Amino acid sequence: MTDLNEFRAQTRAWLQAHCPDDARGPGQIPFGSSKITLDTDTRLWLERMADRGWTVPTWPRAYGGAELSNPEYRILIEELTRIGARTPLTGRGVNYIGPTILELGTEDQKKRWLPGIARGEGAWAMGYSEPGAGSDLASLTARAERVGDELRINGRKTWTSDAVYCDFIFVLARTSQSVRKHEGISLILVDMHQPGVEVHPIRLLSGASPFNETVFDNAVARVDDVIGGIGNGWTAGKRLLQFERSTHAGINISGAQGGRTEASRMPERIRAFVGEPTGQIREESIRRGLTDYQMNAHAQRLTQARVIEETKARAPGFASSAVKLSNALLTQRGDELLLEAMGTQGLSIEASHPAHQENVEQTKGWLYRKSLTIAGGTKEVQLNIIAKRVLGLPD
Ligand SMILES: Cc1cc2nc3c(=O)[nH]c(=O)nc-3n(C[C@H](O)[C@H](O)[C@H](O)COP(=O)(O)OP(=O)(O)OC[C@H]3O[C@@H](n4cnc5c(N)ncnc54)[C@H](O)[C@@H]3O)c2cc1C
Repeated sequence: MTDLNEFRAQTRAWLQAHCPDDARGPGQIPFGSSKITLDTDTRLWLERMADRGWTVPTWPRAYGGAELSNPEYRILIEELTRIGARTPLTGRGVNYIGPTILELGTEDQKKRWLPGIARGEGAWAMGYSEPGAGSDLASLTARAERVGDELRINGRKTWTSDAVYCDFIFVLARTSQSVRKHEGISLILVDMHQPGVEVHPIRLLSGASPFNETVFDNAVARVDDVIGGIGNGWTAGKRLLQFERSTHAGINISGAQGGRTEASRMPERIRAFVGEPTGQIREESIRRGLTDYQMNAHAQRLTQARVIEETKARAPGFASSAVKLSNALLTQRGDELLLEAMGTQGLSIEASHPAHQENVEQTKGWLYRKSLTIAGGTKEVQLNIIAKRVLGLPD
């Protein structure tokens, strides 16, 4: 315990001295993209944290981490949250493909890929879903054929988030046609800076394009860059999904953001709309809703902390589905509550005055966060996993 107290004191002092003022509070969070210029302090913060191994605090030192234990990791997150320090690096590199390589990659793959991922050198896209393969992912048809030491990839991936900004993509593709559906799939790392990879943004009603279609036309990858071995992509790909779900759930201890939460700001935000000068909330239904929400948020935080401490790997297995789902439902419940408190202001989609910009962001966020029960596997898919794998119910 004394060691942990000492660790906390040292961590607090170091963060206080090294986290630039402009890397605290809301602002830019890097995800490694070579196409996005970072603000000066954001870059400095990323570099300082990477030098200390704290962009991936639990990874081995040899691959860019700091080898923190789970309790030390939790303290680091608490201390980062305490001073409002932004996550130094996020994205599918540190959170999804990095821990998958760490767990299932060869020594050569770990040495080649992990130090760069830990320093945010390149952003990663996720090439799983296809027009005919979402929940039923094993129906995917993208294929990769071996030509010498290379793989030639052809096919289309849809909903590839952020792909226009990405440098690399991990792709699930079929490397064998003559086996059963779940076999013959491989998880392949692909450089996106090549003529065989084209990204077409998908424009949403809001005008934004967070999604893309990514087309592979004889794209080239190295056979050495198949993670988990050729034909084992279903197993490797499912493990990666657990890292993704754990990230959504706040229980992935690969990167430097596991367990952080926005829930604590909810009372203050609600009071801004329906609070008396005394701080009391006028509307009884909102008062009750907030109490209910706060109890659930507290339970969620304790669950996240317990899961983080109990998990031996960098993310749990099937438990990631349960915590992902409860986290998504809690977040959506918070949005609904805030919207109720905002009344007509909760329907603003454009700000007529700069002071109202936060309301607009909240409304857009409410709409966007409806996707939390779709992305990373839908609510129904998570419920199926929980029923079968956690509760052991029959098919
Ligand atoms: C914000 C966001 C970001 C995303 N980013 C990426 C990305 O970067 N890369 C990527 O590859 N994909 C990405 N996706 C795609 C995501 O993984 C799929 O949308 C998701 O897996 C569902 O697939 P689908 O959209 O094809 O829906 P479908 O699978 O067609 O499902 C339609 C409906 O049927 C239900 N359903 C399907 N099967 C069952 C079943 N067996 N039992 C009960 N109900 C069922 C579903 O729950 C859903 O309600 C993203 C999605 C979102 C929303």
